Amino acid sequence: MYKDLVKFIRELYNEPEAFIPLHAPVFQGNEKEYLNNCIDSTFVSSVGKYVDKFEEMVAEYTGAKKAIVTVNGTNALHLALLVAGVKPGHEVITQPLTFIATANAIAYTRAKPVFIDVDNDTMGLSPKALKEWLEKNVKLETKNTEQGTQSKSPINQLTNKPVSACIPMHTFGHPCRIDEIVEICNEYNIPIVEDAAESLGSTFKGKHTGTFGKLGILSFNGNKTLTTGGGGMILTNDEELGIHIKHLTTQAKVPHPWEYMHDHVGYNYRMPNINAALGVAQMERIEEIIKNKRQTAQHYKEYLNSIQTFSHSNIQFFTEPGNARSNYWLNAVLLNDKEQRNEFLKYTNEKGIMTRPIWRLMNKLEMFKNAQTGNLDNAEWLEDRVVNLPSSLRIK
Ligand SMILES: *Cc1c(COP(=O)(O)O)cnc(C)c1O
Repeated sequence: MYKDLVKFIRELYNEPEAFIPLHAPVFQGNEKEYLNNCIDSTFVSSVGKYVDKFEEMVAEYTGAKKAIVTVNGTNALHLALLVAGVKPGHEVITQPLTFIATANAIAYTRAKPVFIDVDNDTMGLSPKALKEWLEKNVKLETKNTEQGTQSKSPINQLTNKPVSACIPMHTFGHPCRIDEIVEICNEYNIPIVEDAAESLGSTFKGKHTGTFGKLGILSFNGNKTLTTGGGGMILTNDEELGIHIKHLTTQAKVPHPWEYMHDHVGYNYRMPNINAALGVAQMERIEEIIKNKRQTAQHYKEYLNSIQTFSHSNIQFFTEPGNARSNYWLNAVLLNDKEQRNEFLKYTNEKGIMTRPIWRLMNKLEMFKNAQTGNLDNAEWLEDRVVNLPSSLRIK
């Protein structure tokens, strides 16, 4: 059975012998031309036309009012949390089933993560589990603000600390139930920072992921759907906030013909023009890229469904959730249990097909082992069973 799947993947990628990676970048557009432009014009660094152009293209494509490029997705998350108001000692809710960057970004702010379960059918934060945890632990308390007014803050009754952000993540490009999550977080005055690092091109009820909350982030790392080498983006519908974020990513330098004047502790988080040049070339082909990825998913789905019917296979394809269009960044399958998962990983990797298990849960890692968690039944169930299959664009 695994042998047939290996054969199928080799045919899918038209690759009879060589190693097949999980997700390799493909450059088939104007990448070389734009990179040459950067070199010829000497604009290779933090100023240049591709930076502005890339931001405009992603803003238009996602429907976000503002899109601000960053050096990578991890520092996009870090800065998004800071502007959302996360401070040392605060708490930030996220899912335990995510890439380490989500939890690390929380740690950079000196806040503490709280891990809440995911849904089995989306692998993203579960609105039901979120609501249960909030109802049990968090109360809105009236506080005096620095401006002398009063506001209602969500305070964790166990720790007496404010819960100052929630980071839902759209796992492997599959949108989570973000509308319900937004509704719940609004009730509790908790700003949302959507980790849409994996979900460029994925929509929920027709709206692009990363644009539902106060802030959202994207990643353009080498293994993501669209790559700029390394890179990230912060999305927001709050125009003023967007302008402020841009300012913070550029060392908070106040424009002046010659003076060095800075009005905040800023960051050198802006993406260089050469990376943005790759981004522009790839955004020109984004529809084609998403179509190609969705077709690959369709092939996997049909094949895996057919072997399920005929040979009672226990490899189940993970399809996009209802109400959602997924970019199928990484195709995923569910195995019966951990033992079978390990067998499958061993077999496929030995055959030169790169497959990978889903991440270890964040609360099981040394750095986050003392974090508060809710009940994590679904995350634990998925942790033992999910495996990613090769998902690069198919060009042959
Ligand atoms: C890739 C990724 C990031 C961070 O992206 P980098 O650009 O690699 O820093 C953050 N969160 C998730 C879920 C990711 O998959």
